[in-house]
Formats: sequence, structure tokens, C-alpha cells
Amino acid sequence: MKSFHKVFNEAENKISGVAAAPGIVVANAYLYIKDKLEINHSRVTDTEEAIKNFDESLAKSKKELSKILDLAKEKMNDTRIAIFEAQVMILDDPVLIDKIKERIGNERMQPESIVDDEISKYQKIMIASEETYLKERAHDIEDIKNRIIRNLQKKRWESKIPHDAVVVSDSLTPADTILFTKSHAQAFITDHGGLTSHAAIISRSLNIPAVVGTHNSTQKIKDGDTLIVDGFHGYVIINPNKEQIEFFKTKHERLVELQKGLEEFVDKPAMTKDGREINLMANVDVTGEIDLVVSSGAKGIGLYRTEQIIDELGEIPNEEEQVRIYTNLSSRIYPESFIIRAFDIGGDKFKLFDYDEPNPFLGLRGIRFLLENPVLLKTQVRAVLRASYNKNIKFMLPMVSTIGEIRKTKDLIEECKKELRHEKINFDKNLKVGIMVEVPSAAVMANEFAREVDFLSIGTNDLIQYLMAVDRGNDLVADLYQEFNPAVVKTLSFIINEGKKEGIEVSLCGEMAADTLAIPLLIGLGLESLSIAPTTILYAKRIIRNISYENAKKMADDCLSCHYEYQVAERIEKFFEENKITRTRNII
Ligand code: PEP
Ligand code: MG
Repeated sequence: MKSFHKVFNEAENKISGVAAAPGIVVANAYLYIKDKLEINHSRVTDTEEAIKNFDESLAKSKKELSKILDLAKEKMNDTRIAIFEAQVMILDDPVLIDKIKERIGNERMQPESIVDDEISKYQKIMIASEETYLKERAHDIEDIKNRIIRNLQKKRWESKIPHDAVVVSDSLTPADTILFTKSHAQAFITDHGGLTSHAAIISRSLNIPAVVGTHNSTQKIKDGDTLIVDGFHGYVIINPNKEQIEFFKTKHERLVELQKGLEEFVDKPAMTKDGREINLMANVDVTGEIDLVVSSGAKGIGLYRTEQIIDELGEIPNEEEQVRIYTNLSSRIYPESFIIRAFDIGGDKFKLFDYDEPNPFLGLRGIRFLLENPVLLKTQVRAVLRASYNKNIKFMLPMVSTIGEIRKTKDLIEECKKELRHEKINFDKNLKVGIMVEVPSAAVMANEFAREVDFLSIGTNDLIQYLMAVDRGNDLVADLYQEFNPAVVKTLSFIINEGKKEGIEVSLCGEMAADTLAIPLLIGLGLESLSIAPTTILYAKRIIRNISYENAKKMADDCLSCHYEYQVAERIEKFFEENKITRTRNII
């Protein structure tokens, strides 16, 4: 069989998007196109009749929403239900309702025109607000506004769709998402939306695969097309060919096989057969993933990518907002530790300022960017410190390439501590500060850098790209992005040993740690701490509990004397055979 890369990555019938909810599905497409609402701005002659119509549409909207709320209660936990409860509350808001009625009476305009104007005013205030919570509610209000207007226009709200379909839409509201489960929707694909759109969050809660932000799926996909949806990697294949179907089937069968009996590992430690316990933590990209982290049995959060908050909010969160987010997440995970990584802005991640860099990956990224923008860094450090009083928070710096950067940041942390002491604000005086080792200079100087910090975390995603000089997102050189290249293996071994010589914790939080084939190698190289995506925790635990450290070490020693990538891969595969463990590289 051809590689994943050939069958899927290069396929012309493939659409890529954001992997918003995991799972793999093959089903037929249902194009859910909402008609654009045309608002009637004409005058009315009978205002009493108009107010009566408005009352009726309110009552109908309430009835619809309470049905959705019931369904939501059946399918989801309390935090998610709050989205719908908030919508019901808006319909009950006397100030808003009275204002609309008053205006219909005074201005003698169509109720839909007043509803549109009045609720839009609310939305604008909320969008302009500093509070994330209010911004989110502005989105929910859009749904309510459209619902009332649609009911005023006596249009039907389409919620019945063909059974077992993949719903393809421009965007989905939380209500759409929940209602479509009645028709057993198999997956969701949307042109717009990110990981944190409510529809994405709800899909994750409902365990329905979703790929969002595809830009053009509603143009490329037709009703009834057969689709393969991969919510793990964020792609959709339209009308797959035989080879793709075969590939998918094998993948799916493997997935089902691998999922069997996984739950038994939730409460078990990630301990090798010869008693070496691995600290298995989770990487968190969006706040919504925290439920999954808690239920996966992870030992804390080893990487919280805070730049994602900026992506989620569309702006930099202020100090108070950050304190709220960090406090909330660290309490959920308490007493396990919570590693907050400073904003990793730049590279292929979004830009905050409007300047172009010829080589963004080699440019003003991570700690370099932050030290150039000390106010931003200071705000984050203050927020981290303020949230740290429970003593389970650690702070990590991305893209460090010199000792000077560590020292400057530590000076800034001290300055913030001084300010907080002065302001009589409580914080963890011994807040642990660590760095990502993801640049070759940091790897070469691992020992010297280790003396400056409390922990090291190896970021293989970047380390491999900088070590091998391959852009991690460039398909043309993807073959050279080799996690098993002997240069990578030797560098990892060096960092681990040099860090340990200084007695500090060395962890690894790149994707490599989630590759089940790589796990025995990493443990054999001496790592006792890994941080991986929450969806892969149980797979990793199963591998760890099936190997012995002593054997893994022998295998890793052999790998260290290999000259070629394929030799390393073969040696690892032999290890899997000898130990009778299912080979599960890139399983999902
Ligand atoms: C890494 O580089 O390995 C890493 C974990 O950071 P990111 O993927 O966010 O660059
Ligand atoms: Mg990185």
C-alpha cells in the first residue's frame, strides 16, 4: 500500500481545514445552505398587530429553544448547556423586549427591522467589550436574533436533515449542531470557524468528528457526494477513489482495534514493566480540551500554547482575562502541574503586527518577539504569577536561542514579583521557569542552559525543522523531516543527558512523543516525562505499560550507532516485534 502522504496529502480531491473534533467517518454529504435573511424595513399600519406578531414569534422561539435545551441536557455536560441557557435568558430579558415593543409602537416600523436594529446594538456593545465572556455571548445573540426574525417571517427553521449524513455548511450555530444529532449527523464540515467556535466545542463534547475553517467546502462539495472525514488530521476527501477507500478502511479497522480496551488504562500509572514511571502529561491548545485532559488520566498539562488564546479571542487578552483563564485551568488540573508557555508569536503562527519577514521561522518569533515587546511579556508574566498561588503553575519560554534571553526574561520576572509584592498580591515565590529546547543552539548548550532554569522541554516539532533545515509545513521537503534521523536521535540523547546532569526535569512536548513508534525510543533515551495531545494519552500509556525500560535502553543504544533513518526505524520495529507489541505508528 502507498504511504499516507501519497494517498491523501497529494490528493486533488482533498480539502484541508482545522481538525476540530477527532474521529474518522465515511458518509454522504448534506449541504446545509441557510437562506440569507432579508429584513423588511417598511412601515406598519397596525402597531397592535405588529406587537402581537412579535409576541408570537418570541413564544415560538422560546419553544424551539427549550426543545434544543432539553436535547442538549440529554447529550452534554453542564458547562456546554450554559450556551443554550444564555440564549433562553436573552429571550426573557424584559429590558430588551420592552424596548423593542416600545419602538414598534413609536416608530411604526416592521418588528423585524426593530429586532434587527435593537439586538445588533447589543451585539456591538458586547463585541467591543474587553470581556471574552461577553464577546462569546455576542455570537450566541446572532443566533437568537435570526431565530426571532425567521419566526416573524413565518419561515421554517430547517432542522430535519437526511439521516447519517455529513453536514457541510458555511457555518453552524450551537443549536444547529445539537439539532442535527437527532438525525444522527456523522460529521460536520464548515467553511468558517476555528477550534473554539461553539459548534467545534459541541462536536467534541458529542464525539462527532468535525473539520472546520475549510474556506471552500460548500463550493467544492455537492449534495450526496461520498466523503471521508478525518477529524484527527483535519481533512476531507471528496468522492474517494478505490485506493483511498481501501486506505480509509484499513485505518478505520485499525482504529477500532486500537480503541478496544483503552479505558482500562485511565486510572493506571504510565509505568514500564520494570517499574519506571513516566510522567505523562497533556498538551493543551484550547481551553475546551481540558475536559478531555481530565478524563484521559493525564498527569497534568505539559504545554499550554497560550498564543492560541489570542487566536481564540482575535486580540491579546488583558492581564485580568489571562489571570482568569490560567486560574481556571490550573484549578481544574490541581494538584497536578500546569505548564504555561509564553506566547509563541511569529513563525507560521499568526502575526500581531503588520510587517513582513523574509524568513519568519528564522525571525522575530517566541521569546525574541516577547523581549522586543516587553509590555506584552510583562502582562503575561504578571498574570501567570497572580494565578500561581496554588503552586501548581510553571512558566516556559519558547524559541530560546541564547542564555541572554533567559537572563533578560528572569530579570523581568523578578521585576514583576517585586511589583506584586508591593501591591500585596499573593503568588508562588518559587515559580518554576523552564525553556523549550527547540533550536540547535539551545540543544548544543543544553547543559549551560539547564543551569539557568528549572526544567527543559524538548520541542521536536521545531527542533527537527531547525536541525534538518526543513520547513515543518513544506510538503516539498517533507521526506527530509525525519524524526528518526540519527542526527535527531543523537541530539535528543545529548539534551536529555546534559539536562539530567544538572538534576533538572527534562521533558518532550513535540508531536514525536505521541508517535507510538517513537515512545520506546524516547524512554530508552532516558526521558521520564512526555507531554502529548490528550487524545493520544491512553495509547501512549498502553505502550509504556507493555515495555521494559532496560530493553528500551538497549534498543535506544543501538539506534544511537545507526547512520541512516531507515536503520533506526527498523531497529525500533524489531523492538516492537520482539516485545510482541502492535506496531501503531501514525495510527490515527
Ligand atoms: C515544538 O516545537 O515541538 C512545540 C511543541 O511547539 P509548537 O509546535 O507550538 O511550535
Ligand atoms: Mg515550537
